[in-house]
Amino acid sequence: MRNRDSYAEPFRIKMIEPIKQKDRETREDLIKKAHYNVFNLKAEDVYIDLLTDSGTSAMSANQWSGMMIGDESYAGCANFYNLEEAIRDILGYMYVVPTHQGRAAENILMSMFVGEKQTVIGNMHFDTTEGHIRLRNAVPLNLVIDEGLNPDTDHPFKGNINLEKLEEALAGQGPEEAPLVIMTVTSNSNGGQPVSMDNMRDASILAKKYNRPLIIDAARFAENCYFIKQRDRAYHNVSIRDIAREMFSYADGCTMSSKKDALVNIGGFLAFKDNEQWYEEAVQIQICYEGFRTYGGLAGRDLEALARGLYEGTEEDYLEDRIGQVAYLGQKMTDAGIPIMKPVGGHGVFVEGSKFLSHIPRANLPAQALVVELYREAGIRAIELGTCAFGYTDPETGEEVYPNQDLVRLAIPRRAYTDRHMDQVAQAFEKIAARKGRISGMEFTYQAEILRHFTARYRPL
Ligand SMILES: *Cc1c(COP(=O)(O)O)cnc(C)c1O
Repeated sequence: MRNRDSYAEPFRIKMIEPIKQKDRETREDLIKKAHYNVFNLKAEDVYIDLLTDSGTSAMSANQWSGMMIGDESYAGCANFYNLEEAIRDILGYMYVVPTHQGRAAENILMSMFVGEKQTVIGNMHFDTTEGHIRLRNAVPLNLVIDEGLNPDTDHPFKGNINLEKLEEALAGQGPEEAPLVIMTVTSNSNGGQPVSMDNMRDASILAKKYNRPLIIDAARFAENCYFIKQRDRAYHNVSIRDIAREMFSYADGCTMSSKKDALVNIGGFLAFKDNEQWYEEAVQIQICYEGFRTYGGLAGRDLEALARGLYEGTEEDYLEDRIGQVAYLGQKMTDAGIPIMKPVGGHGVFVEGSKFLSHIPRANLPAQALVVELYREAGIRAIELGTCAFGYTDPETGEEVYPNQDLVRLAIPRRAYTDRHMDQVAQAFEKIAARKGRISGMEFTYQAEILRHFTARYRPL
């Protein structure tokens, strides 16, 4: 990767959105009123918002001009054909089913392929994917390589699936029991870690051998392709578009949350390489849940911004800047002695909350305490992806079950912040580190039964 000092952002800024840092006293008051849950804060009370990279991208002048030529016809709008052409061109997939978000594409896919008690094999399913699997009383099976679960090992492709375990799972269960293999690129759930081209090819060979469809969860496919270009010598001189074409050629279809690498604020799609029968089946479900086949829950203008965003999201200089900015923050954090997951992934920096605040026991939610402290310190909003998000109380024993890791994710919106904002984030962590021994843990005062972190309330101890 080129040194970030040797180039600058490949864009200039035409329109700005003011952000303000509230004073410390106000922040203290606001976080308390929010019951120490940053989801309850108003966005205007946040200085730098790193809650998510989903739907938070800045669109380009080209995308905005596309919004103005939205064709809002119910059937056959021009923008659908532009999207279809973009997907055929960039991914090489023939059939396109637009949806209002990525999870809607997952809903259609799972309705088509997954039934009760079946197993859905993948490298590492994202949480909405798991949700759709469990909704059907089916079982998600994550077979990511062991290195993918260890935050301290330096492996270039921590999103890879364990091929031996994959073959074992496919050989042990027939298509009636395990109907589908899903490869998520990059793997969101372990920090935006990429899948290698070799791994995708080998997974595809196994899926074919055992006659199962292979589907790509493509939310961050462009970032994944960039990592392949950087980290696999064989692809150093191959263009991102050619890498993408090859990667998608190994699968039979994909689901996509366009709110990530397609640089739009809303949208998604399901696409199939060549299976017309699947396409017609998908359209039946699409019409019930999303809308007619040429709009699928989106306005014509949204389809146009998406079509244009797919091209921009796969530009080499855009990706160099994007991945470079995430790496830049990761380096600053490492220099400041903050424990983060390594190597840094595509869409954010993941801080090991329980390691950083090691004096706080897991039961007292160290990662959540750190999220609160970051808002108090600088008005920066991050998200806890640890005990609050993934832990739960075992209904049988009444005991708390803890996830492997207690992480704080700093997700970086695309094209929205500059490196100077990243400097502010790293500086806030430095200040917190200097007094971290005095930070106390937290406890729940309210929690819902599922997806508790969105609505939970807390109290500092
Ligand atoms: C965001 C995301 C989804 C769900 O997409 P939405 O657009 O939020 O519905 C699915 N898979 C992955 C990997 C994601 O990151």
